[in-house]
Amino acid sequence: MTGRRLHRQSLQPGARHYDVIIIGAGMVGATLASLLARGGFSIALVEAMEPRPYDHNIDVGLRVSAVSPGSAAVLDQAGAWKIISEQRHRPYRRMQVEDGAELEPLLFDAPAFNLERLGTIIENDLVQSSLWRVVTSAGLVDIFCPDQLDQLNCDGKLSRVSLTSGTPISADLLVAADGAASPVRRAMGIRQDHWVYNQCGLVTVVAKQRPNPGVAWQRFLPGGPLAFLPLADGRSSIVWTRPTAQAEQLLDMDNSDFITELDHASMGWLGKVESCGPRAVFPLSMRLSECYVSKRVVLMGDAAHVVHPLAGQGVNLGLADAAALTELLIHTRLAGGDIGDARLLRNYDRWRRSESELMSYGIHTLRSLFNADALTPLRRIGLAAVRRSWTLKDMFLQQAAGLGANAPKMATGTALKTLLQGND
Ligand SMILES: Cc1cc2nc3c(=O)[nH]c(=O)nc-3n(C[C@H](O)[C@H](O)[C@H](O)COP(=O)(O)OP(=O)(O)OC[C@H]3O[C@@H](n4cnc5c(N)ncnc54)[C@H](O)[C@@H]3O)c2cc1C
Repeated sequence: MTGRRLHRQSLQPGARHYDVIIIGAGMVGATLASLLARGGFSIALVEAMEPRPYDHNIDVGLRVSAVSPGSAAVLDQAGAWKIISEQRHRPYRRMQVEDGAELEPLLFDAPAFNLERLGTIIENDLVQSSLWRVVTSAGLVDIFCPDQLDQLNCDGKLSRVSLTSGTPISADLLVAADGAASPVRRAMGIRQDHWVYNQCGLVTVVAKQRPNPGVAWQRFLPGGPLAFLPLADGRSSIVWTRPTAQAEQLLDMDNSDFITELDHASMGWLGKVESCGPRAVFPLSMRLSECYVSKRVVLMGDAAHVVHPLAGQGVNLGLADAAALTELLIHTRLAGGDIGDARLLRNYDRWRRSESELMSYGIHTLRSLFNADALTPLRRIGLAAVRRSWTLKDMFLQQAAGLGANAPKMATGTALKTLLQGND
């Protein structure tokens, strides 16, 4: 497929057919679109709202992500990493975890685990707009934006979609990367377990007396963790988890009262808070879909699973979903198979659901352990065990870095080109 095709309010007679239709061009859907298009698949990408172009003259956005080395490798194969790395970003090589009650912090240093970095802090807007640039400029993807899913009809043979613009399209496979509220998941009647934590994550950007030296710092406090993530200019992006009512109070405070509260909670790490930007809060929950596939439909990213942000894993899991599906579709195509085949979809479901459930329940348990004061002895035993055991630390870190035993090949360095040659 050649030439950039931006379908705005176009009404086609008859349905155009694609290999894959992707609903949602957030960080996950846009990554999948680019990977598959670069792999030779014909792609329709449907997005309700065009991402804002990234502007480095505007101050750091409130939404940032800790992107793992595995995810960076996937974004590289999607063609976005080069664009991202030329803009504002900050790698970090140390992670420091503290329990308010423990004296000694738990340290994870990248070189000790043969890693160049533990992750990179990047603004979500930068990731999304870099991917958008790739998918719109390469001319490989048909983009329907602004447009939305109106009707969906998936049977054993085809996925048929009609968009709110009136455009009908069809594909061998439909991917829902349409976020936590996923209209596709609802339309397919896929059930979810949903834990509402009655907690919010308050986010803002702060400058301390001393610049952040490239450390992702997290202190577990009663009521929820407080995390400082390093930014390119020495400031930190914070995520402060609080019970909902307290988070709203913190949101409404004037700046000097908020800074006093934050100084108290961060207990002098890097000195006092010198300044603080605008604040926002996000309600936190965990959602797990009972199944990630249906007839000729695949769920990925937040449409399939939502995790508490305390381990910074939400988008990392979604990018691994995108890489995993790409790998399975390429294998199937090389073998001359049908990319909507039920067995292939079951493989995706087993692979990605076991990975996400492992991570989600791990984070859920951590959250519960650190949230309840009554469990302090158990928490101490847990922290002491991790501190002493190299194996536990290594396992934890490799998983968080997106390089665990079941990571997709692209995350661990296999090039898309190699997958396409069937030489992996
Ligand atoms: C406070 C906080 C901090 C976080 N920090 C981290 C972190 O450090 N690291 C990390 O890995 N994760 C983090 N996360 C999680 C991460 O932000 C999400 O997992 C990620 O944004 C999900 O991306 P997505 O592409 O799956 O979904 P979304 O970003 O929700 O994208 C869905 C897209 O689908 C579109 N869409 C929806 N419905 C339709 C429709 N009907 N038709 C067309 N388009 C549609 C939407 O417009 C949107 O563009 C954090 C989350 C929070 C709340």
